[in-house]
Amino acid sequence: MKEEKNKNNKRSFLIFAIIALILILVYNAFVIPAVKKAKIKDTNYSFFLKQVDDGTVEQVQIKEDTILFKVKGADGSEQLYSTIRVEDPDLVTRLYEKGGIDFTGSIEEQNPVASFLVSWVLPLVFMIILWNILMKGMSKRMGGLGNAMSFGKSNAKIYVKAQTGKTFADVAGQDEAKEALVEIVDFLHNPGKYADIGANLPKGALLVGPPGTGKTLLAQAVAGEANVPFFSISGSEFVEMFVGMGAAKVRDLFQQANEKAPCIVFIDEIDTIGKKRDGTHSGNDEREQTLNQLLTEMDGFDGKKGVVILAATNRPESLDPALLRPGRFDRRIPAELPDLAGREAILKVHAKKVRIEPDVDFNAIGRATAGASGAELANIINEAALRAVRNGRNQVSQSDLEESVEVVIAGYQRKNAVISQKEKELIAYHEIGHALVAAMQKDSAPVHKITIIPRTSGALGYTMQVDEGEKFLMTKEEALARIATLTGGRSAEELVFNTCTSGASNDIEKATQLARAMVTRYGMSSSFDMVALETVNNQYLGGDTSLVCSPETAAKIDEEVSSIVRNAHSKAVKILSDNVTKLHELAGFLLERETITGEEFMEILKRDNVPAI
Ligand code: ADP
Ligand code: MG
Ligand code: ZN
Repeated sequence: MKEEKNKNNKRSFLIFAIIALILILVYNAFVIPAVKKAKIKDTNYSFFLKQVDDGTVEQVQIKEDTILFKVKGADGSEQLYSTIRVEDPDLVTRLYEKGGIDFTGSIEEQNPVASFLVSWVLPLVFMIILWNILMKGMSKRMGGLGNAMSFGKSNAKIYVKAQTGKTFADVAGQDEAKEALVEIVDFLHNPGKYADIGANLPKGALLVGPPGTGKTLLAQAVAGEANVPFFSISGSEFVEMFVGMGAAKVRDLFQQANEKAPCIVFIDEIDTIGKKRDGTHSGNDEREQTLNQLLTEMDGFDGKKGVVILAATNRPESLDPALLRPGRFDRRIPAELPDLAGREAILKVHAKKVRIEPDVDFNAIGRATAGASGAELANIINEAALRAVRNGRNQVSQSDLEESVEVVIAGYQRKNAVISQKEKELIAYHEIGHALVAAMQKDSAPVHKITIIPRTSGALGYTMQVDEGEKFLMTKEEALARIATLTGGRSAEELVFNTCTSGASNDIEKATQLARAMVTRYGMSSSFDMVALETVNNQYLGGDTSLVCSPETAAKIDEEVSSIVRNAHSKAVKILSDNVTKLHELAGFLLERETITGEEFMEILKRDNVPAI
């Protein structure tokens, strides 16, 4: 893009030079005469004659219809006067006779070199300094004034292999996505193979998935593997202040791409420009024009030429249907949250970048991070490395990794938080309540760790459960067991202290969410059967839902949800009161240790062989 930039620079310099020239001319035509004029006093002819007679006039310049003359005061000061020229044939003789008056030269014109300096060189120097300041400011505020001077130019950067430095080997898991992209890379390498048989490759592929699953990374890997020019631009860069600018940028981008074909154009976060056009939001002309231009351009170029358009989004449902029809982004490449094998692989890819003990168990970390995205896993490895450095070691250990999983889930430990003994006891019973209820139900994941060290996220303690293997489905029994486990904390508070605390608010939220989903989306309630009562709006971003039912049904749903939670709660209370001695024993142990492992927990629990319920 260097050439392009130089061209831009030259053009803006030319514009600047023209403006500078005009300014200098104006300066010479108006400012200098005005300054000079200010120095000259107007007077009348008789004053002039009187001064000549008095002998104070030093110099006279007779012009066409004015007379300029310089008077030397008694104190030696000089003053210029101008007067109307009256028809007076004796004037010259008079001046001549007076003697000592110079009336042949020009008063105004001082030193020609000085006047040249003042009227031309000085303003020029000033302009050049101004230009330099402007240019510096421009390169500092990348794109600030720079953009203003290059209206409508796309700022897509060309990446070639060496620059992204990413290959498919950097992307772990995501095998389906890689497979689909490998085909595109192959097409760019041997388009003939596809043309022979008459196959057209998709013009565009849309990478969809939750944030942090490696969509941008996949696109960079394609660029690295394909070894063709790679234009990368973010959707938001098309959004301009002025209507039509975004469209101009799209046009420019595709023009460049056509020149460089075969090549790849990658539009990240395409939902910023590709939102559904609907009648309701009027007045967003700019975005619509940009989208229309994109649609036109995608139709316009020849699929056989080898321009492939990749785009990424985490809101595919908000995209305009016209973008998704065959011939445009007709291929959808999912980049989902990684499964257990995927998480292990991602951890290993990132672990290669840090020095790590050879016997680290990535599988255990993978199991403890169900639902984590690739970006979070990369972050876990980095946090672990930072922790190793903080502790003065030069290798990352298993415990670093385990601690950093908790950091990513719950924040850092707040070691110096002051918590009273009374509250500590409450927290310990609360956590053991969760753990005990979990352990006493057979459809519940085993307890991995319990801690009452507060975290920066605000959690005062937590119980970590880790499944043995990967779970893709949740049975009704598991869901109910989960809700019971969530109510276990509050149940322990009630049972032991005969009170309840605000510490259960998060548990309550989660329990209610799950119970509601059971009723409205999973068809797990007896009264509604398999009726969908809620739809998911944003499956990749939080997954918020909206109710689709009558108000009467909504009331019934609420009843159903609260009865599920109430039943789970009483089940938890029952489990705890049946095992109240274990509850005291475990809580005491946790209070003393602050953090206990799942094994320690099970060991104490099994000592007297409590019968499972
Ligand atoms: P997004 O899907 O939001 O575009 P990115 O591609 O920007 O996510 O991913 C962010 C970071 O997460 C990457 O730079 C990489 O370090 C890590 N990451 C995400 N997915 C993977 C993966 N499958 N393999 C390896 N690293 C990954
Ligand atoms: Mg991204
Ligand atoms: Zn709790």
